Amino acid sequence: MILDALSLAPGTTLEADLCIVGGGAAGLSLASALEDSGLSVLLLEAGGRKFDPRQQDGLQGSVAPGSSHSPPHMYRRRVLGGATAIWGGRCVPFDPIDLEARDWVERSGWPIGWDDLAAYYPAAQVHCEAGAYAYDVGTALPAGAPPTIEGFSDPDLIADRLERFSRPTDFGKSTFARLTAARQVRILLNAQALRLVTEGAAGQAGPVQRLEAASAPGRGLTVRARRYVLATGGLEVPRLLMASDESRRGGLGNESGALGRYYMCHAENTLGRLRLTPSNRPVALDFEVTEDGTYVRRKFGLSAAAQRREGLLNTIFRLHYPLIADPAHGSGVLSAMYLVKDAILPEYRRKLATIEIANRGRMVRDSRFWLSHMANVVKDSPGVLKFGQAWLRKRTFASRKLPFVVVRSRDGSYPLDVNAEQVPNADSRVTLTGERDAYGLPRLQVDWRLHRQDIDSLVRSMRVARDAFARSGTATLTFDDATIEDEVRASTPVGGHHIGTARMAESPRDGVVDAHCAVHGVPNLYVASAAVFPTSSHANPTLTIVALALRLADHLKACAAREAAPAPKAVPELT
Ligand SMILES: Cc1cc2nc3c(=O)[nH]c(=O)nc-3n(C[C@H](O)[C@H](O)[C@H](O)COP(=O)(O)OP(=O)(O)OC[C@H]3O[C@@H](n4cnc5c(N)ncnc54)[C@H](O)[C@@H]3O)c2cc1C
Repeated sequence: MILDALSLAPGTTLEADLCIVGGGAAGLSLASALEDSGLSVLLLEAGGRKFDPRQQDGLQGSVAPGSSHSPPHMYRRRVLGGATAIWGGRCVPFDPIDLEARDWVERSGWPIGWDDLAAYYPAAQVHCEAGAYAYDVGTALPAGAPPTIEGFSDPDLIADRLERFSRPTDFGKSTFARLTAARQVRILLNAQALRLVTEGAAGQAGPVQRLEAASAPGRGLTVRARRYVLATGGLEVPRLLMASDESRRGGLGNESGALGRYYMCHAENTLGRLRLTPSNRPVALDFEVTEDGTYVRRKFGLSAAAQRREGLLNTIFRLHYPLIADPAHGSGVLSAMYLVKDAILPEYRRKLATIEIANRGRMVRDSRFWLSHMANVVKDSPGVLKFGQAWLRKRTFASRKLPFVVVRSRDGSYPLDVNAEQVPNADSRVTLTGERDAYGLPRLQVDWRLHRQDIDSLVRSMRVARDAFARSGTATLTFDDATIEDEVRASTPVGGHHIGTARMAESPRDGVVDAHCAVHGVPNLYVASAAVFPTSSHANPTLTIVALALRLADHLKACAAREAAPAPKAVPELT
């Protein structure tokens, strides 16, 4: 059932077994998984069914001086479906090593094992509409699929790994019909959670007694539930916990001081140049389609053995298309894309701008620059036309969309697109500011940082990759040893990956939630979000967010079943 909070009288109190706050990938997967559980579920979503710019003000915040993070409202959406309304759909599971305690990564080690997480990936694939849980060439592609680079094989660099792509599924749309029909699930739109009020005396949080929310500034409502789940995304989870600080200074679950700290996004960069030898060596560069109709793309990953031996963070490399802004690539398609770049999503425009800035010295935007781009388009006009038609067919009109354009390099050379894990760093954090939004909630400040170890690991990972390609004799990776550290230092955070701000840890001394994602010290409050990841892997977070949400659904069902079970009969004492 879908309800609009604006239709409720101010001061209304709603009751449920479970209150989920946030209708993004996490909240909607959780609600869907609990549909037939017998629990009455009430999901509060601050946005409406459709994107409304007037509802986005609460996402505004600031960025700490010196941090290269994007403004906090970018890469987020206040709408049913959350950021999946605009996500890229790239699905990647974590690797087993990501959950291990690694002695070279301080604060690594999840309180759950790989099997606990992996058991939920197949179901998460279904929610993400990303096809089978098969992430390597051998299991995902038909027999006879070509190798990633013909002849390449190396123990340090795994070349047969894939990333899969969701439609991309907007969870607000994909779950709408089903949840509208669900008898036990109520979705309350335009309902913004403001504060959790706990039962405990000052200094001892205790269970949540009620949630205060509002449909508009001054139009309050209250929710009373047996249990609550915060599924508000990796930035809003700490914001709400920090703002609910009546019973515990610094916010709920913050005994360790970890709340809002250890903020990770993945370091993103385009580095070096890989030249195939010879330049026409066959390479599987473009998207391929699996038997179940899912787009997949190859990538290179540092092997677990190389990470252990060299003390590296988990990192992946993809063959990138030539620098789109540089007309020297000679591609009419890339030039056409560059000339219409104002038509693409602002988020991707920003990424493009970052790459351009990094290469500023190489290009002068004079009339020759623009004429060269236009000449590329004219010379390649049949190719551009064919591309335009294919784009309309595969992207605009298709329900499963081609993720993006991959253009083969004319000279067999490709920059590497790099995504790297970051170490959990207490100084990389989000905090509340003195400024408040229209609902009176303190606004956020984001201070995302690259740690010295992030930089060092990425520089050394590039060297490991260079050695691996050199050993194989199939390609040469070049970069300037004198400048690579500076280039790596200019890495930016991947937008939309908001990780680690309410980390999972066995003990309240080390984190915010326990292994079941229950907030330490607040037994009926849970978190479903990348906020709970203790470490970030290189992997895009959504598949794992959904897997953990489904795991939480099973835990909540088990709790309810235990509570509903008749109390064991007392055994009469023998006298
Ligand atoms: C441009 C872009 C591309 C991306 N590409 C990828 C990708 O390829 N692969 C990948 O894995 N990830 C990608 N992501 C990230 C992905 O979108 C997020 O990981 C995912 O959406 C997080 O889901 P979530 O449910 O935790 O949070 P969100 O999607 O942020 O949903 C949170 C929901 O909670 C609501 N909410 C927040 N606060 C409150 C409150 N106080 N009261 C009530 N409701 C509230 C919000 O309105 C929102 O609907 C991308 C993101 C962006 C922006």
